[in-house]
Amino acid sequence: MIINGFKIHPELLEEVHAERCVLSECLGACCTGGAWLDVEQLKIIVPQVAAIKPNLPDDRRDPNAWFSAPAADEAAPGGGTIGTNVVADLRRPGETCCVFLLPDRLCALQVTSQQLGLAYPGLKPLFCALYPLQIDEGEIIVDHETEQHFGGATCRRAGATKQPLYRVFKEEMQLLLGAEGYRELEVMSEK
Ligand code: SF4
Ligand code: SF4
Repeated sequence: MIINGFKIHPELLEEVHAERCVLSECLGACCTGGAWLDVEQLKIIVPQVAAIKPNLPDDRRDPNAWFSAPAADEAAPGGGTIGTNVVADLRRPGETCCVFLLPDRLCALQVTSQQLGLAYPGLKPLFCALYPLQIDEGEIIVDHETEQHFGGATCRRAGATKQPLYRVFKEEMQLLLGAEGYRELEVMSEK
């Protein structure tokens, strides 16, 4: 099945007893190792450094410590990828978290985007906004690797009602397919 130029992995059509995870339970486990963004996304963040800084704890306000050096990547927009750096996660002793993950488990890039009135995902890297979905060579897939490394990043809880996995991750699917494409997916999956 192809919608809006994306192939839909069959796993997303499977009916499962699942609901979305809750941030107060998972504590943002997916942010343990930081995130990847491309050069084009970095260009959106840089002009907003002054707005981002006050949202971070005092010891994380140096923008020079926010990102790793760009690595060349011909496939990525702008020709390179950059990782966000990690710091010790005080809410989960012994673990790390992305430099932008706040003690209340919100993302400082997302919080700043809301303050600036930017449409979602705004400054938040698309990689993060889609998680646990990923795009693999034009196909929308569910990531299973991260949950093996970062406990709690399963992103679904047992639920009484059975529903297709794409519906559990409706917001993420809509980011890629748009509202119209999502409706198309619903119609096609029910045939
Ligand atoms: S940028 Fe935000 S959502 Fe992405 S890993 Fe960092 S804190 Fe988490
Ligand atoms: S993506 Fe998964 S691990 Fe990350 S905050 Fe959401 S439910 Fe939690």
